[in-house]
Amino acid sequence: MSDDRKLPETDEQWLERLGPARFQVLRKKGTERAFSGELYHHHAEGTYLCAGCEYPLFQSQDKYDSGSGWPSFSRPLSVGAVAEQRDDSHGMIRSEVLCAHCGGHLGHVFDDGPAPSGTRYCINSLALTFRDRDDDNAG
Ligand code: FE
Repeated sequence: MSDDRKLPETDEQWLERLGPARFQVLRKKGTERAFSGELYHHHAEGTYLCAGCEYPLFQSQDKYDSGSGWPSFSRPLSVGAVAEQRDDSHGMIRSEVLCAHCGGHLGHVFDDGPAPSGTRYCINSLALTFRDRDDDNAG
């Protein structure tokens, strides 16, 4: 966790921390190319963290293969881990998903997910990093 690590404030600082690809997604609400993400076909047990601030967002047991081309989760790690807001860009009305800690753009949430939640969190791989279960246990 990086609560003691100050969040960047300017675009320049974010770009320096994230690099151009992650910056475009997290800070500019970009979308990575479908099927391009390193974490799309990723099945190890552990925790998915925000690539912007290392806040824990999703868990491997809630990840499933939606066939969409983006990492998909049936729910966030906790109710407060992510925030949602209306996004009416690109001629669609969608719910944008943001990191509740740093405000980074993660992806969108849809109601065509698996039972029982019926929820699909469609998240850019570039917005996430992965921490293995063994590292979780090590604290
Ligand atoms: Fe974050």
